[in-house]
Amino acid sequence: MTENLIIFNARLVTPTGFTARRGKEMGKLLVLDDATIEVTDGLITYVGPNRGEKRDGYYQHYWHYNARGRCVLPGFVDSHTHLVFDGERAEEFGRRLRGESYMSIMQSGGGIVSTVKATRTSSHIRLRNRAEDLLKQMSQMGVTTVEAKSGYGLDKETELLQLKVIRCLDNDERKRVDIIPTFLGAHAVPEEYRGRTDDYVDFLIREVMPAVRAQHLAEFCDVFCEEGVFSIEQSRRLLTAARDMGFRLKLHADEIVSFGGAELAAELGAVSADHLLHASDEGIRRMAESDVVATLLPLTAFALHEPYAPARQMIDAGCAVALATDLNPGSCFSGSIPLTFALACIYMHLSIEEAITALTLNGAAALGRADRIGSIEPGKQGDLVVLNTNNYHFLTYYIGMNCVQATIKGGIIHPN
Ligand SMILES: [Zn+2]
Repeated sequence: MTENLIIFNARLVTPTGFTARRGKEMGKLLVLDDATIEVTDGLITYVGPNRGEKRDGYYQHYWHYNARGRCVLPGFVDSHTHLVFDGERAEEFGRRLRGESYMSIMQSGGGIVSTVKATRTSSHIRLRNRAEDLLKQMSQMGVTTVEAKSGYGLDKETELLQLKVIRCLDNDERKRVDIIPTFLGAHAVPEEYRGRTDDYVDFLIREVMPAVRAQHLAEFCDVFCEEGVFSIEQSRRLLTAARDMGFRLKLHADEIVSFGGAELAAELGAVSADHLLHASDEGIRRMAESDVVATLLPLTAFALHEPYAPARQMIDAGCAVALATDLNPGSCFSGSIPLTFALACIYMHLSIEEAITALTLNGAAALGRADRIGSIEPGKQGDLVVLNTNNYHFLTYYIGMNCVQATIKGGIIHPN
């Protein structure tokens, strides 16, 4: 569903361009007062100095919205989430608070494996309703596009079920958020393949991935490339097969130890490498020289009490950095955009301008969509956020609080 919309008197705040912004360019935003934004049939058709209110009749088929000087930004793009799952892991969170590590909980049968049990015994309608509740909250924080991964089935049937739930949510006429599907069958090794990781990778390549492709259920293929989970060699084998089948590639890379995930992402031409808390100097250099978007997930580092990814080093090296929430039931049960902004600026030392680029245009690039979303320019989707202030610094200064007044999806206004 799309609409015609004309916004007057906006303080326009947006990165510009149709590809990722890298290095110093991340800090450059277009800020324009008294701006008009015109959306026709869901697409942006004019951005610039105020016009139109006096053009008699011209806008009679448009909704009129007077922004009264408040900031209007591109809709936020959350390019890394594990949105579809059943069960919860509050008890495990308590164990972590008492000092147990994420990996030790995982090795004792908790972690991803416990969500897998709950998701395998769930149903389409349950999974869908839960994801819908989360999406509604994300939309209220200004999100207009999310990526969502499978990876809590780890068998053919449930992996396909998760992806069908994602497709169903994205096909909803009334949706407020676009959802981009990623196949993450290589999220963990399931019980039935314990100690036989290579056999599991073979199973994914032979049985599951062709079915996902045949039904057009996922655009990206992702892997949890980490010590004790999927090795560099296993990840390379899986992703190479995925690329041959037509998937675009993503990696969970260098989250827990420095493992060579960033280097592998550059080698394979992945669209993004995500987490990167322990990316090596060489890995950062290789990402800066390639088109890999370095996607950083500060909420997870915060929740796991881990050091933040070296964002400053990456930007200074010329990388394109995106920010995302990593919403999932285990390591980071949060899709909070306000807290992501705060952590990125306070602890990762991004400027507010860089953080805005990272959550809009570079998030779009991490989903291969910088040509369609992520900035306010003619030709792009009419996906916008209106703040309740004329000062965009409130996105970080108003810590963990929501300063979104309305989210606009395809020209349709959803007030908070
Ligand atoms: Zn993840």
